[in-house]
Formats: sequence, C-alpha cells, structure tokens
Amino acid sequence: MKKVYMDYAATTFVKPEVLSEMLPYFGSIYGNAHSIHSFGREAAKGLELARSRVAKAIGAQDREIFFTSGGTESDNWALRGVVSASKRGKHIITSQIEHHAILHTCKQLEKEGCEVTYLPVDKYGTVSLDALRQAIRPDTALISIMFANNEIGTVQPIAQIGKIAHENGIVFHTDAVQAVGHEPIDVNAMNIDLLSISAHKLHGPKGIGALYIRKGVRVNNLLYGGAQERGRRPGTDDTPLAAGFGKAIELACENLEEKSMALAAKRDRILNGVMSSISNVRLNGHPVNRLPGNLNFSFDYIEGEALLLSLDLKGIAASSGSACTSGSLDPSHVLLAIGLPHETAHGSLRITIGDETTDEEIDYFLAELPPIIKRLRDMSPLTR
Ligand code: PLP
Repeated sequence: MKKVYMDYAATTFVKPEVLSEMLPYFGSIYGNAHSIHSFGREAAKGLELARSRVAKAIGAQDREIFFTSGGTESDNWALRGVVSASKRGKHIITSQIEHHAILHTCKQLEKEGCEVTYLPVDKYGTVSLDALRQAIRPDTALISIMFANNEIGTVQPIAQIGKIAHENGIVFHTDAVQAVGHEPIDVNAMNIDLLSISAHKLHGPKGIGALYIRKGVRVNNLLYGGAQERGRRPGTDDTPLAAGFGKAIELACENLEEKSMALAAKRDRILNGVMSSISNVRLNGHPVNRLPGNLNFSFDYIEGEALLLSLDLKGIAASSGSACTSGSLDPSHVLLAIGLPHETAHGSLRITIGDETTDEEIDYFLAELPPIIKRLRDMSPLTR
C-alpha cells in the first residue's frame, strides 16, 4: 500500500545528513563535554558548533542558547523561570490557542498563586494587539504568545507583540516550535526575549530543543544540578542530539524564503483541490498569515476520527482537530477559540506537509479524499 505522510507538524523524519552528523558522537566522540581532557574537548567542540548553528538561525548570540529536552521543557522553563525571577509581579498574559505545554503550565502556575490572562483570538486565530495592550497590568511579568499555531497554522504579529511588551518593560516569550525553519526569525528585530525551539519538528532528533534567553533577562532555573549550560540547565550534555539539532536547523534555514514559497505553492494546490472537489468545507486559520506547510479543514457532517481512520486505511497519515485520541471527547481548544461550533470542530482535518512532499503524493491525497468524504456523509445521520 502507498504510504503518504502528511503530519509534519506532529514530527518529521531525521534527515540522512543529520544522522551522519550525530553518529560520531554515539561512537568515537563519546567524551563528556564538561571533561577537560581531549575526549571531553572534542565533544565540547561539537556541542558548541551546534549551539552556534542554533543561535545563527534566530539571530542570537551563542551564549544566549541553552539546550533543553525539547519544546515542552523550554516552554515550562520560560514561564516558571521568568515569573519566579520577576520583580514586577506574578501576572502572565498568554493566548487561548497556545500549545498545552504553555496552557497546562499556566493552569498549574495559577494554582501556585499566579494570575493568567488568556487572550481571545479572532476567527482566523490572530491575537488582537488592542486586547493585549488592555490586558497589561503593573504586575505583568511575562507575555507569552506562540509564533505560529500548531493546529491551524496562524502566524501571529510577533514583532508588534514584542514591541508592545518592551514599551511596557515586560519580558516577551514566544513558543516558536512550529515556526523555526519555516518563518524568518530575528530575535532582535522582533523584540523577543525568550524563544522555544524543538529539533524534531525540523528533521532533527526527538528529545532535544533549546530555549533562547536574551542576555540580561532575569530567568530562574527550572532544574538544579551541575554546571552544564553555564549552570542554568544542568545534566550531562547530550552531544549526539545536539549535533543533530545543529545540523537540522542549519539545513532548515538554508534558502528559507525560497523553500517556504515552494512549500506554500504545494499547500495551495491541496487547498484549491479540496475546495473545488468537496462541498461544505471551510479552511481554518488565517488565509494568508499561515505556515507554508499547514492546512486545517472542517467538513460538515463528518466525524474527524472516522475521517482519519479512513485516510489511514489508504496509507495517508494526517491529524484531526479533535482530542478524541487522547481519551477526551472535547474538540480542540484552538478550534473552539476561533468560534467553531462543537460539531464543526469535530469534523476537522489537519494536513501538514514538508519540502519532501511530492506532487504524486498530493495527487493521491486529492484523489482519495473526496470519495472518503462522500462515503462518510452518506453514512451520517446528520445528512439524512
Ligand atoms: N509547542 C508547540 C507549538 C508544539 O507544536 C509542540 C509539539 O507539538 C510543543 C510545543 C512541544 O514540543 P516537544 O514535542 O519538543 O516537547
């Protein structure tokens, strides 16, 4: 059976060049990067090369990059670290459509005495700058707004949010896990103080990411232990993963503009194909300000899980907007936040593609989807 992967936002394969970069650190270069002998120095060289590659990708200085175990840890560290170090207070402003790594951390912080404002978004999933300004209080320690949404792909006006944060003397964090490698990012031009990255979303290995922390911004540790990562993120450095991460981010950011345009053209071909062959369908997320590889559809009279399973039977891997797979019957908080009724949110499908997605795969998807939708609608009690 044909196998077509259209779930790049969930994770990506490790590129062969990335794997080659990692292998020596599993073999001959096995020293502890913190040891002063030659074995350690060789490992440290690889670690620092990786750090400088990550820094370069976002316009940061090497010493502002701290390796973590991934996007989740980076998000947790950013929120907890800033709030606990802040002299302003314990108020956080975030949005209703953040990833759970942010939302669930905020919920826990509320139990621990923080106050959190969850900004609503418009029908496209964009945060209102006016609502942001109005939410700012004298005790606001942190604004945390994601760069691009993992479900609907909407890209936020990050530079303007950063400007508002800095005009008010507030630290600004962005979860850029879905954006790095697709959107041009410059932490200085965009007034970003902290930024979360995850390697496995950009053809790097799973289990490693980074938190960018602008020099001079007060952030307490999340973990305590040894002196690694300049004492701020202890634990023996994972040199193989770091080497892979560094190579992956370098490759992802090469000719970024060109690659993003080519990816967006493929995305738009899928969009046009779906819209012209299927009725009662809507595109979720911003029509223009969206990730080049993301599409999110809602099909009336369709149950998302049934759609996913039918696609899977045809070898097509995608994702749904509902959280049924995680044992909850609630539809996605993101789709509800953009104003979709529950039943529409339940009939959603996320398609995320990458540079490697071929025209042939797109044709296959566009040929297989309409009969599946027709069959599911014919079976649905809602269409009778
Ligand atoms: N933030 C966003 C926007 C994500 O999409 C994800 C992963 O899906 C994460 C954070 C968590 O990243 P990780 O899987 O590296 O923990």
